[in-house]
Amino acid sequence: MSEETPNSVRLEKHGNVAVVIVNNPPVNALSWHVRQGLEDQFAAALADDSVEAIVLRCDGSTFIAGADISEFGKPPRGPDFNAVLNSIENATKPVIAAIHGTALGGGLETALVCHYRIAVPSALLGVPEVKLGLLPGAGGTQRLPRVVGVEAAATMTSLGEPVPAAKAKDMGLVDALAGADSLAEDAIAFARDRIADGPRPTRAREVVGDISIIEKLKTQNAKRWKGFDAPYANLACVEAATRLPFDEGLAFERTEFGKLMFGTQSAAQRHMFFAERQAAKIDGLPKDTKLRDIKKVGIIGAGTMGGGIMMNFLQKGFACTIVETQQEALDRGLAVVRKNYEASAAKGRFKPEQVEQMMGLITPSLIMADLADCDLIIEAVYENMDVKKDIFTKLDGIAKQGAILATNTSYLDVNEIAAVTSRPQDVVGMHFFSPANVMKLLEVVRGDKTALDVLATAMGIGKKIGKVAVVAGVCHGFIGNRMLAPRQLEAQKLLLEGATPAQVDKVHTDFGMPMGPFQMADLAGTDIGWHRDPNRIESIRDALCAEGRWGQKKQAGFYDYDDKRQASESPRVAELIEQFRKQAGIEKRDISDQEIVERTLYPMVNEGALILDEGKAQRASDIDVVWVYGYGWPVYRGGPMFWAGLEGTDKIVDGLSKHGFSIAPLLKNRADSKSGF
Ligand code: NAD
Repeated sequence: MSEETPNSVRLEKHGNVAVVIVNNPPVNALSWHVRQGLEDQFAAALADDSVEAIVLRCDGSTFIAGADISEFGKPPRGPDFNAVLNSIENATKPVIAAIHGTALGGGLETALVCHYRIAVPSALLGVPEVKLGLLPGAGGTQRLPRVVGVEAAATMTSLGEPVPAAKAKDMGLVDALAGADSLAEDAIAFARDRIADGPRPTRAREVVGDISIIEKLKTQNAKRWKGFDAPYANLACVEAATRLPFDEGLAFERTEFGKLMFGTQSAAQRHMFFAERQAAKIDGLPKDTKLRDIKKVGIIGAGTMGGGIMMNFLQKGFACTIVETQQEALDRGLAVVRKNYEASAAKGRFKPEQVEQMMGLITPSLIMADLADCDLIIEAVYENMDVKKDIFTKLDGIAKQGAILATNTSYLDVNEIAAVTSRPQDVVGMHFFSPANVMKLLEVVRGDKTALDVLATAMGIGKKIGKVAVVAGVCHGFIGNRMLAPRQLEAQKLLLEGATPAQVDKVHTDFGMPMGPFQMADLAGTDIGWHRDPNRIESIRDALCAEGRWGQKKQAGFYDYDDKRQASESPRVAELIEQFRKQAGIEKRDISDQEIVERTLYPMVNEGALILDEGKAQRASDIDVVWVYGYGWPVYRGGPMFWAGLEGTDKIVDGLSKHGFSIAPLLKNRADSKSGF
């Protein structure tokens, strides 16, 4: 071997107890050399006749936190994980896992082959594989039910939420709690006490519990799991554990694991895991860039977005000044914020006193000059260039030097807004998504003159308030809304040719989107961006708006809505479509679902390729992050650019060409080489 094996597992002896210690910073992942080390050191401890019990613990901040995901998809190296686990489980001396930090995934599976577990109170234990579209495939689904019973095992594997040590103790997942600072000693003492009991291999334990939990979980989570394979595969494995002998259960688990591991869903989910982390990186940012200090935040406009944006900051303890033009609008805006917080408090998310604390951080004002002491000011007034320019001109005279001036515009040219100030380097777009206190996405729009430290600070503050921030360049609609435009346009054309709103929407919801183009238009309001002239009717949307069919808020849009906001197909809309079709001289025909995919989803990929070509997104995976976190693109399809690779870029180009679209050069290029993004 040319490369030396890192010495990441060592053996210590404390009298008759051997302690196997893993040291593989930062999180003691199960890299190949850790597996090798475990195998070697356990063999040594078992061969040593003076050793009567073995403790497995880790150095550093955590127990084995999981698999080394950088090894996924690479050729295998080092001993097989299952073989290592089997030799620990089959040890002829009691083996005790001593757990601190997090024992997740492969980490918990390692703890599960130990015969006993002791943990510090702050430890977290879980099998989060389902969140990457996988299942704990090293015996986790078979051993967990043998330790905690069917109910807890089904819940833990299918939801992937870790449990804290105290709860784990109640469940029987942990046998004893150690002192917060005395795990090493307590584990050795605990091990000594187990010598008389002897080994207790998990595989030999009985599976107990009520299997009806499995159907119950499926019913409870039907909506959340729609389209996902992994939760169901996890449950199938736990169910198998209740009826199959251990080794057959393991074989069943292996098969299910293989399907997930080599299927597209997990690949997409793992792609998103890395994409999200990658999005935070700004290309070309010098390492020593100093971020600007943000303590006080100003918000202009207390409407839908202003109030929602402010909530993010209040929750993180930032003092906020919010400015409106009218007292009434200010009062209304603050009342909405309070109502939202109180609703969350009623659900137990906040304590009532926390609500008061957060509301107490607000300085409401009708005077722009009150923003003078703010470090970051976010404008969220009407989407109108003149209004925004007026505000930024005033801000330039008010804001302190070094303050960051941000606009929440959805479409407007950030450079044009910046140009009215004497400090365009301090101007940036911070495009939140509605509802701004809920949606995870933040597009940080980089103007031509935006300073790097301003960009980096905006990205950093986004992370601080719990958002996934993505850098976007200046263009109409930035990344997300720009890609939405061709989809909405084409969806309207499809209506004229013979599709119904319900058919188009169903193709999208079947694909895994939370809603289709027309459901989305009705939710947002069909009147958004409407010219407001009821006599100027140039599109189906104009006709809807002229009749007051402004969407859900009017109980009528592309659909009719009842008092409970239940949608039904609208005969009136069908009539309007028919009129337009006649006027345009278009003959109605049957539209296939495949054509809807080709004309509404493929153009999004095409637009994404243009965005990349123009450098308006730093990387394809950033576009995926925008669509997964901002618009609910199904994570198991990995965002539009990742999906393009699954679908086949050549197939996409063929589909687009068939319908007369012009193809983005980058997409053409990928199709020619039959590669993805
Ligand atoms: P809104 O109409 O709900 O709120 C705008 C508020 O700004 C109103 O309360 C108004 O009184 C106030 N205002 C107007 N001029 C002002 C001034 N000079 N000083 C102080 N306050 C002033 O609008 P919204 O939906 O919150 O949209 C605000 C911005 O956010 C727009 O640029 C919009 O494009 C963008 N945006 C909206 C959404 C969305 O889904 N609603 C999503 C992302 C971005």
